[in-house]
Amino acid sequence: MNLIPLPAFSDNYIWLLHHHGKALVVDPGDSQPVLDALATLDLVLDLILITHHHADHTGGLSALSAATNAKIYGPAKETMPPSVIPLTQGESVTWCGVDFQVLDVPGHTSGHIAYWGQPEGMDPILFCGDTLFSGGCGRLFEGTAAQMLDSLDKLCAFPGSTQVCCAHEYTLSNLKFARQVEPLNQALIDHETHCLSLRAQGLPTLPSRLDTELKINPFLRSRQAHVKATVQNNHPTAMDDAAVFAALRQWKNEFK
Ligand SMILES: [Zn+2]
Ligand SMILES: [Zn+2]
Repeated sequence: MNLIPLPAFSDNYIWLLHHHGKALVVDPGDSQPVLDALATLDLVLDLILITHHHADHTGGLSALSAATNAKIYGPAKETMPPSVIPLTQGESVTWCGVDFQVLDVPGHTSGHIAYWGQPEGMDPILFCGDTLFSGGCGRLFEGTAAQMLDSLDKLCAFPGSTQVCCAHEYTLSNLKFARQVEPLNQALIDHETHCLSLRAQGLPTLPSRLDTELKINPFLRSRQAHVKATVQNNHPTAMDDAAVFAALRQWKNEFK
């Protein structure tokens, strides 16, 4: 099985997984990069997974529906085209022998879902849309900080070897912020050096690994005493976990 990020727009990735001539894609915001990859690699698209309703994740659906016989799955709790089969936490989608578990991960949008599966002979794969980014997390457009913290906790329960397939190449700007939060975190400094070199070669920084994210991503580390203390320096009233997380997210929103 092969996992490939297809670049789309300025910083999106449409994840493509293929096996024996069959392909699945995740969040095709645009159809053309997918159609080009199918032609180049001689693949038949038979499954599309959607994480949330934003146009940069769904914009290619109608063209791909017209061009292929792919089944489309997406979040039950968001408005989707009628061709989308609704999914919610506890359900799963099986593709080429891999069971992709569905999780509800509200925060970025209110009905956002994520998919986690373990193909044989491969590290597990997490398609997390705009919930978890390398070094960061999605903006809270429809959900609360408490919901997002809970959603990220769910994702962190997966094995550290999990390949984190985020929908955007935001890594370098996220890591710049992360260094403000944790200037002495050596794993973070090393990861930034690694990602700078990848980007200089025009390569994606993704997938990341979950165990790396746990060491470098401030939004997965907001309960660590020194991270909490740094946040509370600027927001002394942030006491509980959700309030600290909210203050950290607010800090990132304002960070240039
Ligand atoms: Zn989004
Ligand atoms: Zn997006």
